Amino acid sequence: METDVRRNPALLKLDLYCKGIRLDDSCLVQDDGGRPVLRTRAGLGSGLELILPGGLWTNVPVSEPFAQRSPYVLHREDGGYVIRRHRDRAAPPGGGPQVIAPEAEPVAWVRLAPRPGWYDRTTATGRLMTRIGTLQGTYLGIYQARVCDYWKEDPKANCRFCSVGLNLGGDDAGDKSVEEVMEVVRAARRESAITYVDFNTGHFTGETYLDILEPYVRRIKEETGLLVGIQTPPHHDLGRYDALKKIGLNRASFCFEIWDEATFRRICPGKNREYGLKRYLDAVEYCARLGRGRGFEPWVSNGEIIAGLEPPASSMAAIDWITRVGAVPTVCVFRPLVGTDMEDAPPPKTEDLIPVFRRLYEACMKRNLPIGVAPNVHVSLVLLPEECRWFLDRPNKYWRKELKLRAMSALFRMQFERRLRSAASAHVPAAANA
Ligand code: SF4
Repeated sequence: METDVRRNPALLKLDLYCKGIRLDDSCLVQDDGGRPVLRTRAGLGSGLELILPGGLWTNVPVSEPFAQRSPYVLHREDGGYVIRRHRDRAAPPGGGPQVIAPEAEPVAWVRLAPRPGWYDRTTATGRLMTRIGTLQGTYLGIYQARVCDYWKEDPKANCRFCSVGLNLGGDDAGDKSVEEVMEVVRAARRESAITYVDFNTGHFTGETYLDILEPYVRRIKEETGLLVGIQTPPHHDLGRYDALKKIGLNRASFCFEIWDEATFRRICPGKNREYGLKRYLDAVEYCARLGRGRGFEPWVSNGEIIAGLEPPASSMAAIDWITRVGAVPTVCVFRPLVGTDMEDAPPPKTEDLIPVFRRLYEACMKRNLPIGVAPNVHVSLVLLPEECRWFLDRPNKYWRKELKLRAMSALFRMQFERRLRSAASAHVPAAANA
């Protein structure tokens, strides 16, 4: 494996997740076209959205105390941005603000993820569009409906790493109408060329999340043809996923976070009480089976875990199981967000997670899973399985399968674009209304 972050952008992406970045004073420009730091999406992201070499999008921790000790510093130079690695990690004797050493090696020239014009606009109902949805990398992420019920209990039963209950009302609006969401989807399609819309909910007593999301999925599919996914707890009636797939849903994702059951019980008390790990796994497996049918609409079942909350061997066991049942793992990197129950926990070590992400790529390739096929989906909050090819010792090991995936991707892109055009022409009045 290439171990120099200057030549391995996936390793740089991982190292930045684990260490964060500091901002040099030269970055303090009023408006430089970048995205603001917003905390959304299951409380795992709170950072600066950057585009690394190789076109890898990322969300780098900047607000957490561990990021203040990062060797990486972002500088604005010659009209661009460069990450430099400084050697002054230790705080000065007696405390006080850390001094950035002047000598520093350049690591990579990067770009700020562009801030779309619609971020500053409001919907017809007068709400800021960013309170309805925000870009996560290049897709539109919507945290739908009210705050997760685990946060309303006394004592709280929220997942210990989560910040969703700290965010809502600040960055996100709790009740979003279908019309408001459609307005933002159209703006994001027109101006940011999104291809995918992702809905995310926490736990609602009475398992109402699929009832709430279905009208949004239906409208987006009918009017735009975009890819749509949901991330919710596992509904007890698994047949609901068949119905959602029929109306065009493309992805069902289940965040069980942790494979080790004792750790799952400790860190996710609400999920453990209401569902238990087994129900999450049953839903991942059931939805993976739904993908075996034919049809144009692509379908993927995701099992989502957070690396860094349990030993790497346990995360790898989760990856092996998820891929064995035919689902694709989503592997986040634990981030001790400010204000959460785990804010004082240390971030994971890069070297511990390299084998986890290497396993992610190898497991997907061995099981012939369709990774990297959806057009223009760059994800900032996780390392995508296809990006983890950079962790292989022999990068060409799976070249035949990679060729096949590239062909599938090109074919899908052609069909998808045709369908987007036909959906757009069938709904001209709605688009003009935006
Ligand atoms: S289920 Fe857990 S991670 Fe999801 S919103 Fe609720 S507390 Fe947060």
